[in-house]
Amino acid sequence: MGGDDVKLRLGGITDMSTIDWYGNVSMVVFWAGCNLRCPYCHNSTLIPLDSGTVVGLDLLDERLHQSMDPVPSLDAVVFTGGEPILQTDAVIEAAKLVKSYGLKLMLDTNGTVFKDVERILRTGLVDRVALDVKAPLNPDDFRNISKVLDVYGSYVASIMGTLKLCKELGIPIEARTTVAPGLSDDEEFIRQIARDIKGLCEVYYLQQFDNQGDVLSPELKTKDPPKKEDLIRLARAAIEEGLDNVHIKTRFDGLEMINKW
Ligand code: SF4
Repeated sequence: MGGDDVKLRLGGITDMSTIDWYGNVSMVVFWAGCNLRCPYCHNSTLIPLDSGTVVGLDLLDERLHQSMDPVPSLDAVVFTGGEPILQTDAVIEAAKLVKSYGLKLMLDTNGTVFKDVERILRTGLVDRVALDVKAPLNPDDFRNISKVLDVYGSYVASIMGTLKLCKELGIPIEARTTVAPGLSDDEEFIRQIARDIKGLCEVYYLQQFDNQGDVLSPELKTKDPPKKEDLIRLARAAIEEGLDNVHIKTRFDGLEMINKW
């Protein structure tokens, strides 16, 4: 597919963000459509495969041009969603465009379709991966969070494959778990994730569930986010399991590194 005729299903663009890739000023591109149904999803309007708007790559080109010329105001671009890897061909062409502006690229993905993740990562166009590790890497726990049937465990195998591929390719990976009440706030649940990802990621983020926005589950939307003290306790449990770079992310205090004591 050539760059000129590339179409993408776009959920929106945030021209400038300082919180989506810490330490960088990023443009955030929301790819529409997702293959999962996480109850805590707060971008749930982007889940349907026919959500968003079909646009040409020239729209992204225009927005990048506005942000980079005459005075560059960005360091990086983040592809998020929805789930970008469902549009692999367009992601690769858009990644080439990002690189033509001399910008770094982070791919935020649920990692569930390994052949597509691999196609994208082996282009060498992605500088960092943000990977959702929603649950311990076994099909039962994963299904309980993603609300899709993980046939033959292929989704969890794909997430593990993504972790290992990033290590092989030397792409830094940040693994993330959203801590939601009654779903993913159990200490043993987090300990098992930590054991699964140990040695395979640069940093682990425990993100506080946020009941603002378009939360998919009406029941969950009525629940309070977990307390910061609980996230700290879970982070310490992950550290005890051998992770040495664990952060929590809360709505009011942002990102904080957690120490063992
Ligand atoms: S949280 Fe992410 S992976 Fe889950 S449904 Fe929403 S966009 Fe998809």
